[in-house]
Amino acid sequence: MPRPRPCLECRRLTRNPSRCDSCAAAFEARRGSSTQRGLGSDWRKVRGQAVAAHRQVYGDWCPGYQVPAHTSTDLTGDHITPRSKGGTNTPDNVAVLCRACNSRKHNS
Ligand SMILES: [Zn+2]
Ligand SMILES: [Zn+2]
Repeated sequence: MPRPRPCLECRRLTRNPSRCDSCAAAFEARRGSSTQRGLGSDWRKVRGQAVAAHRQVYGDWCPGYQVPAHTSTDLTGDHITPRSKGGTNTPDNVAVLCRACNSRKHNS
């Protein structure tokens, strides 16, 4: 059993290595929000790579959403499984569609 030490933030004695439970939770929450910002820039990169890879294979071609596949130079990527449902910011979770199909998908 480790000896109690003062919490880094509130100085209350705790057996946690750095912060007491409530300060640790607050710290994680702060860190979580900055991690999400980090994922945002990752996502743009991953999406850009997915669109570039799609172009190499298919050219300027949109697979279509509720419309037949068609050519488009305005391609963009979207999450297959949304982040809100546990989807990841990884290339295998990127669906490439044109911007019009992408917004149709979001509005449906
Ligand atoms: Zn504390
Ligand atoms: Zn389209």
